[in-house]
Amino acid sequence: MKIAALRGREGFVIEETEVPAIRPDEILVKVAVSGVCASELEPWVEGLPDGEVRYLGHEVSGVVVEAGADITGLVPGDQVGTWVIERGFAEYVAVRAAYCFPTDHLPLDEVLAEPIACAVNAVEAADVRLGDDVVVIGAGFMGNLVQKLVAVRGVRQLIVADARPDALSRAAAFGATRVVDVRQESLPDVVRSLTDGRGADLTFECTGTQQALTTTGETTRMSGRVAIVGFHQGPERTIPLAHWNWMAFTIVNAHFRDVGVILRGMEVGLRLLSSKQLSMQGLVTHRFRLERIGDAFATLRDKPDGFVKAVITFPIG
Ligand SMILES: [Zn+2]
Repeated sequence: MKIAALRGREGFVIEETEVPAIRPDEILVKVAVSGVCASELEPWVEGLPDGEVRYLGHEVSGVVVEAGADITGLVPGDQVGTWVIERGFAEYVAVRAAYCFPTDHLPLDEVLAEPIACAVNAVEAADVRLGDDVVVIGAGFMGNLVQKLVAVRGVRQLIVADARPDALSRAAAFGATRVVDVRQESLPDVVRSLTDGRGADLTFECTGTQQALTTTGETTRMSGRVAIVGFHQGPERTIPLAHWNWMAFTIVNAHFRDVGVILRGMEVGLRLLSSKQLSMQGLVTHRFRLERIGDAFATLRDKPDGFVKAVITFPIG
């Protein structure tokens, strides 16, 4: 089978390797779709030291081809959304059955179970309440997912901010009550004017940038919540803690490493997908074959107009 190996800088190579053997508690999945995650961009852009090789890919959906001896409830032919730790950019992957969720025959490129789980857990951890005024900063893939799930909870204001016109028109189409182009308008001013001067009950930071992090402290009301969904890597971030202290914000670090929490988020996400309360329509915008995985990563880096999410697709059947 084919698998993408990352070596050096921007250096994907397609290797031939054995189809993995499965343990009794594992499933062999024929990969249909493997999402390209923003968290994977850094090793590709920055490059790996000489001699190091990494096998990326963790957002996998596909079809069961073999179930381990201990497995009940999943049989060959079942479609599943899974979370794999690595080696997801490959034709086949071995994955623990506990990490596989049946997909009710949803289109497999909508069953990106791991990022959906992140967004589900972010919205739950931030404790979105009925009728809240909510701000989402960043209308990329994670921001879009968070926005859609906040809407499921039922809020009053759902204000979405970004600096890209195409992202803002998408957010509007997904039901934002107000979109704010931060290059044209002051987000804190807009939020104040829509909340009788109070500020939002809750602000989601979904960009991973210092600027957005700073802004969350200016859009959130006293005793409100700040949820950090963005992946803050690179230079150290700063916050004006005197102000944040005084404002008595609850700070929610919406990142999850506990496996049980991640798996529950996947299960909840798939329930919402199969019951049509969550739609992924319009989110997977770029599809690439494995041979063009470098182009997929370049697209994620460059974010051309209309870009939301890139996936690697494999012929199935
Ligand atoms: Zn991911």
